[in-house]
Amino acid sequence: MSIAYWQDDSRDVPLVEVDILVVGGGIAGWSTAYWLSGHDMRIAVVDKGDICAGASGRNAGFITTGSVEHYARQVSRHGEEMAYDLFQYARDNMELIKTELIAKGVECEFRQRGTYSLAGSDHELEELRRSAEFMQARGIPVSMVDAGHCETELGAGSFAGGALYHEDGECHPVKLVRGMAERSEATFYPHHEVFELRYEDDGAVIARTQRHTFRAGAVVLATNGYSHLLHPWFADKIYPTRGQIIVTEPTAPFMAAPCYANFVLDYFRQLADGRVLIGGFRQLARETETGVADVPNPEIHEALEGFLDKHFVALRGKKIQYKWSGVMGFSADGVPLMGALPGHPTCFFLGGFTAHGIGMAFRCGQLLANMMMLGEQPKHLSARRL
Ligand SMILES: Cc1cc2nc3c(=O)[nH]c(=O)nc-3n(C[C@H](O)[C@H](O)[C@H](O)COP(=O)(O)OP(=O)(O)OC[C@H]3O[C@@H](n4cnc5c(N)ncnc54)[C@H](O)[C@@H]3O)c2cc1C
Repeated sequence: MSIAYWQDDSRDVPLVEVDILVVGGGIAGWSTAYWLSGHDMRIAVVDKGDICAGASGRNAGFITTGSVEHYARQVSRHGEEMAYDLFQYARDNMELIKTELIAKGVECEFRQRGTYSLAGSDHELEELRRSAEFMQARGIPVSMVDAGHCETELGAGSFAGGALYHEDGECHPVKLVRGMAERSEATFYPHHEVFELRYEDDGAVIARTQRHTFRAGAVVLATNGYSHLLHPWFADKIYPTRGQIIVTEPTAPFMAAPCYANFVLDYFRQLADGRVLIGGFRQLARETETGVADVPNPEIHEALEGFLDKHFVALRGKKIQYKWSGVMGFSADGVPLMGALPGHPTCFFLGGFTAHGIGMAFRCGQLLANMMMLGEQPKHLSARRL
């Protein structure tokens, strides 16, 4: 991220003055712009590509409430109270997507059929059972299913059983974000890569791109896996991590709801047009699946195809029509981060959604907007914990 003197057209055009500049036109940036709207402010969103150029346009479209990680693991990692609070963030996110976007006419192939977490072994099934007990004790709707149910309802063989989280959903993620963008009051500047941020004495932030220079009262960095390129403070907080997906040609509907498998590392769903999407298997090449390039890995591609062949009779002989990868931002403990950059109280950030931003970011954008306007720091999401 640098620019040559010859490429800098911003010298020839007037400075753009705004109240808030959001850097990053993915789900986190647009969620924040949405929640900041309605307060008589000039808001601009810039992206180095077009809308959803990063992970928000390259994910699987699961809107997860119950299965970010097996709930029992969340409890051992964070304790019962925090595990429940984190679950509740995702639940609030789902509710806000439904009431603010779907109910107001955003068309994004939204369905709330639940998601399954399937067990490849008795050991994983036991962990799912323990998770279900924790969740049921909190009144969260979840049911256990057996191997026969996986075959008849999901067309999936060779699983020991699983858990069905009734509140989860799915969507077309790009249409979802476009819906937010259309309902926000922000002006969008696509193909504007910020290559320099400067902080003025009065708190204003200068952001330079090749086409325009912006002067903003406050800036929001919603750059997720790319954040360390803008500021070194993010280098040990949000790690760029690659995920990979393939999609088959369409087939008759046979899968009742989206599914995770293998401790939430792998995932598949049948799309509205009958195609089957499957992603995951980055655990096969953890050391190479980092960095900011979205290049599919052939070893992972082979594993994804092998998984379809092993588990789905209905997909044998079906052609793979799409393959892609995308750059996610992982945090060290799997929990998103938000706040203001140390030493720069008018430079805010949110990110580190760790493969679950569709299930978290709309609510986090609302929390960040509240923090910017009212000074409320949300529980558990401060970067000070790291
Ligand atoms: C293969 C894959 C599958 C996934 N599946 C799911 C799923 O099913 N469900 C789920 O909840 N999550 C899933 N995720 C994760 C989810 O996509 C992310 O958590 C979410 O999209 C993060 O949103 P974001 O806005 O924080 O980041 P991004 O969408 O990456 O947005 C960051 C934006 O910042 C822009 N940018 C970066 N630097 C600059 C700069 N200097 N100047 C201007 N613009 C800049 C980028 O172009 C990008 O558009 C998946 C991700 C991948 C890759």
